[in-house]
Amino acid sequence: MVKEIMKDVIFLKQPSEAADKNDLDSAKDLLDTLKANASGCVGMAANMIGVRKRILAANLSGRYVVMLNPVITGHSKKTYTAEEGCLSLTGTRQTERFESITVEYTDEHMKKRIKSFSGFDAQIIQHEIDHFDGKII
Ligand SMILES: [Zn+2]
Repeated sequence: MVKEIMKDVIFLKQPSEAADKNDLDSAKDLLDTLKANASGCVGMAANMIGVRKRILAANLSGRYVVMLNPVITGHSKKTYTAEEGCLSLTGTRQTERFESITVEYTDEHMKKRIKSFSGFDAQIIQHEIDHFDGKII
């Protein structure tokens, strides 16, 4: 179900908790909401629909991906300055991102996965994981 976008910065600054199989409905809502906002958004963290769980949905190189409890287990030494926007905020801001990352996560079938991402895909994931820690650009 498509949900409203949370824009309350006080709420967004609170850290999110670990997700489990009981949160798969929220993961589906998050994906629906991301798709409904596809024109201006490539990734969302669950707290952006008011759910403080470590779930993200993202459009990675044209493919929709859901991740529960993603953790960056490795990253490139190299970083770069990115200009990012966020559906929960107005305008864009500069932030530092790793060029590539390795991520461990649980997928929507509750299977553990390890994958590497680079460039824009890696940037999206880093942005959403920051949301879990209450960090907004
Ligand atoms: Zn954001």
